[in-house]
Amino acid sequence: MDATIYRGPHEMSVEEIDDPELEGPNDAVVDITTTAICGSDLHMYEGRTTIDEGRAFGHEIMGVIEEVGEGVESFEPGDRVVLPFNVACGHCRNCVDNYTAFCENVDSDTPGGVYGYAMMGSYQGGQAEKVRVPHADFNALPLPDGDEHEEDFIMLADVFPTGWHGCELADLRSGESVVVFGGGPVGLMAAYSAKLKGASEIYLVDRVESRLELAEEYCDATTVNFEEEDPTEVIPEMHGGKVDKGVDAVGYQAIDGGRHSHGEGAYDKSRENPSQVINDLIGTVRPTGKVGVVGVYFSSDPNPPEHVQEPGELSVDFGKLFESGLRVGTGQCDVKRYDRRLRNMIEQGRAEPGFIVSHVEPLEKAPEMYERFDEREEGVTKVLLKP
Ligand SMILES: [Zn+2]
Ligand SMILES: [Zn+2]
Repeated sequence: MDATIYRGPHEMSVEEIDDPELEGPNDAVVDITTTAICGSDLHMYEGRTTIDEGRAFGHEIMGVIEEVGEGVESFEPGDRVVLPFNVACGHCRNCVDNYTAFCENVDSDTPGGVYGYAMMGSYQGGQAEKVRVPHADFNALPLPDGDEHEEDFIMLADVFPTGWHGCELADLRSGESVVVFGGGPVGLMAAYSAKLKGASEIYLVDRVESRLELAEEYCDATTVNFEEEDPTEVIPEMHGGKVDKGVDAVGYQAIDGGRHSHGEGAYDKSRENPSQVINDLIGTVRPTGKVGVVGVYFSSDPNPPEHVQEPGELSVDFGKLFESGLRVGTGQCDVKRYDRRLRNMIEQGRAEPGFIVSHVEPLEKAPEMYERFDEREEGVTKVLLKP
């Protein structure tokens, strides 16, 4: 079968690899109908993680069950499912407590497992024709038969629950104001979740115009382009004070709007500041407010910008954080915590997260789409791949 393989920084290729097989009685194999490129894949694509060459990428996966192990009870071949990006066992202490992003029973150096991802186990990625699903009864989420809402349901694998999780970590309640940093797929989903949750005002900060337009149109957000304005100045000005809650949907490769450009192209590593967004949140969220960090941070970076002294460490203004009594929640999303309820919202027409989809392309075009998404090209918001 074909899969999207990492061949080194900025180099993806679609190659033939062995079909996945059942490895245990609780496994299933899924015939993939739709998969997606995630913003978090770009950290690996740029060579900014420890992932090995030769790995298949892809953790946003949906399709039809092709084969099940003898221990699988709730699925049979032909069932349509979407997979949480987390691989989890369902019965360890963290899984039982709903912290499925931190499963203790996955073959990973860090808590939690992810398909085709750095430091999160050896699971094959799903930008491919098929994928093996461990603990299928627990992990797979059943979907209605057919192909309705395909572009909405694929968002349940990661970005919709992750955006929702950002709001949950910030304990966003209806009637509160919120700022979301980052207008990529997760940031847009965080702003969209804030709207669904009844936020009174939503601000979204990015610099790609097509993203800001989506945030205005679908999330009722007030947008700030950080290349033109400093969000820590204009948001309190517009709002009449700092906002109640905040979400970081950017992570450690944040761009500092005040840092001068030295390179070519839209994405310039010399402008990165890994603590930019955390410090901007401290500057825009009101004292005693809460912040949810779902943008990715790694404990190591094999290829940091020259000016970053201690990769993996941040220069956070902890004094201001403490003085403001801010609370910060972090970590990858426990997709199982939310995916069933969010699926129901899609089924009943209450949520249409597929509005972010800009491209639906055949799997063979993955290398080109990686390049364009990585350039943050205008209009390349969310790329779906069809194996
Ligand atoms: Zn993702
Ligand atoms: Zn577990």
